[in-house]
This record gives sequence, C-alpha cells and structure tokens, in this order.
Amino acid sequence: MIVAKQLTKKYGTGTAAVTALDDVNFTVEAGECIGLLGRSGSGKSTLMNLLGGLDQPSAGSLNIAGQELGSLNRASLADYRLSTVGFVFQAFHLIHSKTVFENVELPLVLAGVPKAERKAKVNAALEAVRLTARDHHNPSQLSGGERQRTAVARAIVNQPRLLLADEPTGNLDSASAKDVMELLMEQVRANGTTLLLVTHDEALAKQYTPRVLRMADGKLLSAGVC
Ligand code: ADP
Repeated sequence: MIVAKQLTKKYGTGTAAVTALDDVNFTVEAGECIGLLGRSGSGKSTLMNLLGGLDQPSAGSLNIAGQELGSLNRASLADYRLSTVGFVFQAFHLIHSKTVFENVELPLVLAGVPKAERKAKVNAALEAVRLTARDHHNPSQLSGGERQRTAVARAIVNQPRLLLADEPTGNLDSASAKDVMELLMEQVRANGTTLLLVTHDEALAKQYTPRVLRMADGKLLSAGVC
C-alpha cells in the first residue's frame, strides 16, 4: 500500500536549510495499523504531509496505492487527496458555519459526486459514527467527542484506502478517546483501510497499533513491533 524509498524532505536553502526527513525507508501493507511516534520536531508532520499529498518530497520516492506521489502535478495530487486519503486532526478542523451534514458532505462536493449519491454516503457515514440525529446541528452545539466523530465521518465518507490521524484523541476525555479510536479501528476491520496514527501516547499505540514507526531528527529509528 505504501512504499517509501530514500524519502527526503528539505525546507529552505543554503545555511537556512532544514532536513525534516532524511533518507526514510519503509513499507506498509494494506489494512495495517501503524503508530507514528517521536518527539516534537522529529519529522512526523512532514511525513504525514507527504503521505497525505499535501506536500511533495525533495528526493526519493513515495508510492501509495500504485501512485508515485512525487511525480503528480497539483491537480492530480488534489485528486489523490480526495479519492485515496481521509484526514483526522487533533483540533477537528470543522467548518463552524456549516452543519454536521454539510461538513461531512464537503469532500464529496469537492470530488464532484452527484447530490443523491452524496446524501446516501453522508447518511451512511453519520450512521457509522452515531450522529444521524445531529445532522442539522452546528459543530459549536456538539461536545468534543461528537465533533471528532463528525471529523471521522468526514474522513471516511469517500471510503479512503488510507486514514491519516494526527493525535486524534489529543483533545478528548478518555471515554470519547476510546470511542473515536474504536470508530477508526472499525473502518480498518470493515474495509481493510490502512491507518497511520500519530501519537505521543505509548499506551494508545500499544493498544491499537501493532506496529510503530519511531522517528528522531528526520530519521526512522525503527519500523518494528510496538
Ligand atoms: P513533528 O511533527 O515531529 O513535530 P515536523 O515534521 O513538524 O516535526 O518538523 C520536522 C523539522 O522540520 C523541524 O526541525 C521543523 O522545525 C522543520 N520544519 C517543519 N516545517 C517546516 C517549514 N515549513 N519550513 C522550515 N522548517 C520546517
């Protein structure tokens, strides 16, 4: 599903250059749950940005679901994001002027999915996260756990092959955190989705991700078992 070879990302040039990812190599099979661990500044966000098609490598190759991301132009990268990836962030990133339904619908609108199909898909995603009854509410009327469940619905609505979750439980109480993790794991179990979970929480990684990638100073320390 993911093959990274000599993956390198540098920011800036000359004396201001920073090597955020330095010759990183790993492979991930479809349906794997991977924890991505490392201190702040170790390169986790940079790696997630490359995996999510939000940025492109400076050198090396990154092949995801048969697509070589470094060779895609802007429009093809946008297509890749809409068709292949679902994102869940620590801070939810919902649009507060839109309803829960409209937030979840957004990736489908951007992908040009017809209205009737959008409705069916949004309803299925909201049912999966148990928010059907809140579909016309505004995110500001929801609890933190419900907001993150809305974000999970938005991430899974287009049935992505890759789910990227960046500290998805970082702002939640322990009951809501468990709920959100179980919903993500249900996606993996039911659809064979591949999950990458950035976390500082070793216990969370131990519980949910059988394999972890550990990063330090832009390098991958290990790609072994948790
Ligand atoms: P993490 O997510 O593990 O905290 P990052 O991937 O954000 O780490 O950062 C890795 C390194 O790259 C850090 O030294 C950071 O300062 C640097 N970095 C990240 N983004 C940029 C950028 N846009 N410009 C310059 N340096 C950056």
